[in-house]
Amino acid sequence: MSDRKKELADNLARVEDRISTACAKAGRAREEVTLIVVTKTYPAQDVRMLAELGVRHVAENRDQDAAPKAAACTDLTLTWHFVGQLQTNKVRSVVGYADIVQSVDRPKLVSALSREAVRAGRELGCLLQVALDAEPGGTGQTAGAGPAARGGVAPEGVAELADAIGRAQGLRLDGLMTVAPLAGPYAGRQLAAFERLMEISSGLRVNHPAANMVSAGMSADLEDAVMAGATHVRVGTAVLGVRPRLG
Ligand SMILES: *Cc1c(COP(=O)(O)O)cnc(C)c1O
Repeated sequence: MSDRKKELADNLARVEDRISTACAKAGRAREEVTLIVVTKTYPAQDVRMLAELGVRHVAENRDQDAAPKAAACTDLTLTWHFVGQLQTNKVRSVVGYADIVQSVDRPKLVSALSREAVRAGRELGCLLQVALDAEPGGTGQTAGAGPAARGGVAPEGVAELADAIGRAQGLRLDGLMTVAPLAGPYAGRQLAAFERLMEISSGLRVNHPAANMVSAGMSADLEDAVMAGATHVRVGTAVLGVRPRLG
């Protein structure tokens, strides 16, 4: 085994241990939580090694980085998640390799994704990205988190956007995603933030019972996400190492 593969195997084992421990503490079965490894900024070779080590879900956040990587990995049995802010001019490319887009946050994106999914003749899974830093009536883009705001729809906009996805051809509403907010009432309170996301998920499932995915938690706070009830955690740094650049 190469040094890099050994490093990835060790890191994966540590993350697996953290998830199992958190599940046990929360009284949940380990199978209730799916690990998604966020491979952004890391090369296709790492994705390949992760697949050999048993990883089945990977995530990317920038199309420029992800498209060639996915193209180099088409022989692997992987589910590709797109978790970054998505511009409509990148939608055609993303629909070419993503199985699930976790960052759906506006009607324009819903129509663009629907059009391209239909054109590609496929069904695309969608998660609504919820901005828990959003002020009531605002959106993630304009709320107090400044230029680093990571997108997302405000909680009160979830129902309407979910219905739009539900009506859209080629799209399948799978659930909700969030990133622990840096601003607003949940800043620094990851567990409370993820519990709030679970509450929003319960509301969503009244009208969309199949939309039961809850994607929350990253390297620093995956335990809080598991404790709150997340079904998917997105882990980058703890598996691949500290990223060479912001991404
Ligand atoms: C980068 C990223 C992650 C992973 O973050 P780490 O702290 O490296 O685990 C998870 N979710 C999203 C949306 C990301 O952009």
